[in-house]
Order: sequence, then structure tokens, then C-alpha cells
Amino acid sequence: MNSRRDFLQKFTFSAVGLPFMTLAGSQTLSVFDFDKAPYQGPVLRVAIMGLGSYGTRVAEAMQASTKAKLVGVISGTPSKVKAWQAKYNIPAKNCYNYENFDRIRNNPDIDAVYVITPNALHHDQVIRVAKAGKHAICEKPMGVNAKEGQEMVDACKQANVKLLVGYRMHFEPKTLEIIRMRKEGELGKIMFFQGLTGFKIGDPSQWRLNKELAGGGSMMDIGIYAVNGARYMVGEEPVWVTAQETKTDPEKFKEGVDETIQFQFGFPSGAVASCLSTYNMNFLDRFFLDGQEGYAELQPATGYGPIQGRTNKGELTQPHKTHQTVQMDEMAAIILEGKQPVVPVDGAEGVKDLKIIDAIYRAVKTGEKVALK
Ligand code: NAD
Repeated sequence: MNSRRDFLQKFTFSAVGLPFMTLAGSQTLSVFDFDKAPYQGPVLRVAIMGLGSYGTRVAEAMQASTKAKLVGVISGTPSKVKAWQAKYNIPAKNCYNYENFDRIRNNPDIDAVYVITPNALHHDQVIRVAKAGKHAICEKPMGVNAKEGQEMVDACKQANVKLLVGYRMHFEPKTLEIIRMRKEGELGKIMFFQGLTGFKIGDPSQWRLNKELAGGGSMMDIGIYAVNGARYMVGEEPVWVTAQETKTDPEKFKEGVDETIQFQFGFPSGAVASCLSTYNMNFLDRFFLDGQEGYAELQPATGYGPIQGRTNKGELTQPHKTHQTVQMDEMAAIILEGKQPVVPVDGAEGVKDLKIIDAIYRAVKTGEKVALK
């Protein structure tokens, strides 16, 4: 949906020399009233590590970012590097591979590295980025367990660089509206959250189904959205976890690669959550938050959008913005200007999710209720 501003900005291009126009409602406005001065603040110069499917999406979205700019790449595939250089005008001096990227330390033209590789590689790669003195943005899950996550946080702290995790939903307007309503008491006392996240995964040879590279199965990849969502929707940290695994295809989903896990949380207030993470069901992307005075639901809740949702007061109408564009602008502001996001996206936030995922796997294994400190 185009906003009036979008329309007017387009109009400005197509109607140069026509400084006035009449809008519906007979207001007469100068089209130039809406012109914004070009952004002149600080820009985060980013190198992307891992030029795969999501790295490609982030690079595209970053073209529309004001505060973040793609200036470098780290890849093991020379042909991809060449293509990205041509597409994004990246100089050879800002291109690295997985062996030599520690040399980024000597490159004053790169501020941050965005790690978008398979999950099990994040830990070592982020620590190397930190040791090279660059800020790190790391895709979710930040590591394959809480111990890894904490080591990454510690390494970044020691190197005096920031560590952020690619939690793009933390900047999504409808999600933020529900969080605002909950915080302002519009939903009353929160009683229940439901998070359903999953899709039917294809190619059995992909890294997502390889425990060594993925660190687990659907829980690591997609279930983490329900774990994270339960925390920011309810606004509390869970104190206990129970979980049950279902595996219908042990050939495709080998030992350590979960196909479907149902899990439940209890929160200090008495609120509970019931969630499902799966690699074997389609159309599963739904959040539901129930309070004593209202409810909110999102479906789809975590896809690339547009996110759709409603509350007891009606449809949510916040406009869709490309998640990764907003994320990169916001993350640049966090790194360069110390901006505080509504929901944290720092390494500590990533560790919280991984502690819960560790507990979910323990609960699956033992069949017991696992207490979280
Ligand atoms: P992908 O397979 O499309 O890309 C992975 C990239 O890593 C490839 O370019 C591959 O060449 C490179 N790579 C480097 N070393 C590798 C190795 N040893 N084995 C395999 N590949 C190697 O995967 P993707 O979908 O881009 O996912 C990458 C990361 O991004 C994952 O951590 C994933 O969870 C995350 N992700 C996040 C979102 C989101 O919405 N935030 C969406 C998709 C993926």
C-alpha cells in the first residue's frame, strides 16, 4: 500500500516544475513540503559473511537503508565475490575469504561484519570478527547452545565491540504495536501465549538437516521465533519448560535433528505458553496472546511479511516495511549512536533464547519439567 508521502515523492520525480498539487479533500500543498534533507549522519559500513540465500536478501534490503551500507564481503566462493563486487560496487580491498578475513582488522573502511553462515559456524566466526576489532551482527541462532553464546558475548566485550543478533521481528511495526498495548495494560493481565512456527523442509542434504552445521533441527531454525516471541509478547522470562518431541521420519531427521517439538513455558506471573516448532508442517506461523482484557494475534507472525494481525479492538494497520531494511537502519543507530531498541537485539538477548532452547532439549531428553534460573 502506498502512503501519501510515497505518492508525493513519486509525483515530485514525474512532475518536476509543478510545485503545487491539489489533494483529495482540496488541500493545496507544495510537493516540496515533503522533501526531506538528505541523511547526513553516521553510516555503518558493513561486510556480509556468507553470500547464501539470506545474505542475498539482507544485501538487497540494505540498498534501501539510510544508515547502513554494504561495503565488503567474506565468502569461500570466488565467483560469488566477483558477482557481488559488480552488483554492489565493492572494491577488491574489501573482499575476504574464510581463511584470511582476520585481516579485516587492518581495513579502516569496514565497521561491522554481518555473519550469515550456517549456525554452527557463528561462534568461531563472531569471535574472530571481535578479535579483528569489528562490530558483529550475527544471524539467529547466535550459536548452537548458551555456552557458545556466552563465549561470543564475552569475546565481544573483551574486544570492546558490539554484538547484535539478527532478530528482525524486534523492529516489525505490528509486533511493536502489540508489545505497546501489552506494556500499557490494554490487554490486561497476560495469561497465555501460543507460538506456532514451522514449515515442511525439502532437500534432505541441506545443512539445516546436518546436526554438525545446524546444531539441531527445526527448534534452532524456526522454533527460536516462538521462544523469542513468547518472551517479548508476554514480557517475562520463563521459569520452567516442558517439551515433547515427535519424529515421523528418522531417516530425514537424524539423531540430534528435531523434526517436531511441542514445548510449554511457565512465567513468574503465572502466565503460560504453549508452542510448536516443526520442519514437517506447512502454514504454521501464528502468535496468539491472551490477556484478561484483550487479545492479539499475528498470522503470519514471523515471515518476511506483510505480517498480518488483529486484536480485540480490530485489525492492525501499521504499514509493512522491508524487515531487513528497517533492521539495518536500527542496528546502525544502536551501534553508532547507542540507540536503545524497544526489545533488545544484543548478544545477551541471544543467550537468553539459547538457555531456553538448551532447557527444551533437556526436557525432551528427560521427559521432566526443567527449571530455568
Ligand atoms: P544458505 O545455505 O542459503 O547460505 C549459507 C551460506 O554460508 C552459503 O553462502 C554458504 O556457501 C556459506 N557457508 C560457509 N561455510 C559453509 C559451510 N561449511 N557449509 C555450508 N555453507 C557454508 O543459508 P541461509 O538460509 O542464508 O542461512 C544462513 C544463516 O542465516 C543461518 O544461521 C540462518 O538461521 C539465518 N537465517 C535467518 C533468517 C532471518 O529471517 N533472520 C532467514 C534465513 C536464514
